[in-house]
Amino acid sequence: MKIPTPTPTLTPLLSAYRRRLLTGALALGAAGSGPGLARSQPARPARVVASFSILADMVREVAPAGFEVQSLVGPDADAHVFKPSPADGRRLAQADLVIVNGLGFEGWIDRLVRASGYRGTVVVATEGMKPRRGAAASGAHAHGHGHAHDVDPHAWQDLAQARHYVTRIADALATRWPDSAAETGARRADYLARIDALDQRLRGRLAAVPREQRRVIVSHDAFGYLGAAYGIDFFAPQGWNTHSEPSAATVGRLIRQIRQQQVRAIFVENISDARLVERIAREGGARLGGTLYSDALSRPGGAADTYLRMFEHNVTTLALALGG
Ligand SMILES: [Zn+2]
Repeated sequence: MKIPTPTPTLTPLLSAYRRRLLTGALALGAAGSGPGLARSQPARPARVVASFSILADMVREVAPAGFEVQSLVGPDADAHVFKPSPADGRRLAQADLVIVNGLGFEGWIDRLVRASGYRGTVVVATEGMKPRRGAAASGAHAHGHGHAHDVDPHAWQDLAQARHYVTRIADALATRWPDSAAETGARRADYLARIDALDQRLRGRLAAVPREQRRVIVSHDAFGYLGAAYGIDFFAPQGWNTHSEPSAATVGRLIRQIRQQQVRAIFVENISDARLVERIAREGGARLGGTLYSDALSRPGGAADTYLRMFEHNVTTLALALGG
């Protein structure tokens, strides 16, 4: 009897995938009778991988029932300085669709996608959006090259921009899985209605805070979109990313600013070390207003374990600290 040899053209990845399927089938067989055994070969759920927790939650809200949605960067983790592991590459390799923020937020994503062997679409959720740009784009540092450094990537911190994210995500899901486009469309409409309702509620919450009191300090400049949408001035020792430590001069300037402009409150971020802002608060004589969620959700069961809960927590915390 001739034993068939595996086709030599199979990539190692494919054969690993087949091995996994085979092991899974054996495990199922060994487990004895179960509800899954009635079907011969149950299809695995559609798998979407998002780059960070906030985006993954938006995808979960819009994706049809039964979809599996994973995040590369986890809760309370800093995507700016994320170091992908081999497991992240494997997760990408097994994805049916990959969704990222863009605007230079995930500096590590292109290399990771190449290394993983993922060949599908990478959807950029902020594509087509008009992002906030820095003074550097038009000022002394402009040399005609539109670098990601000149663009603020934190667009999810504005509910109006969240509408753009949700629409892009829903369009991408409907294109990839046309059979469930109607369900995706219905979930998108429901989610957008909840986003609008939250926006109305939070604007009402902030209305009680006089404009001149709306000055706060956070550890990195992640809330520019929120500030522009709701009329709050944010100051931070670190810029649009967290790659480098702030200089002593920057910290000194913030401490003077607290005293001169009567900055009302300073906030710790869930992704950052609290010590620097605590020191600035102490030396400037300002009080700590609590924790804001900037670039990641909290763990499940925490104060900000969905995008909408995160947004409500942030604005409510700000309103309380500013005297609303
Ligand atoms: Zn950030």
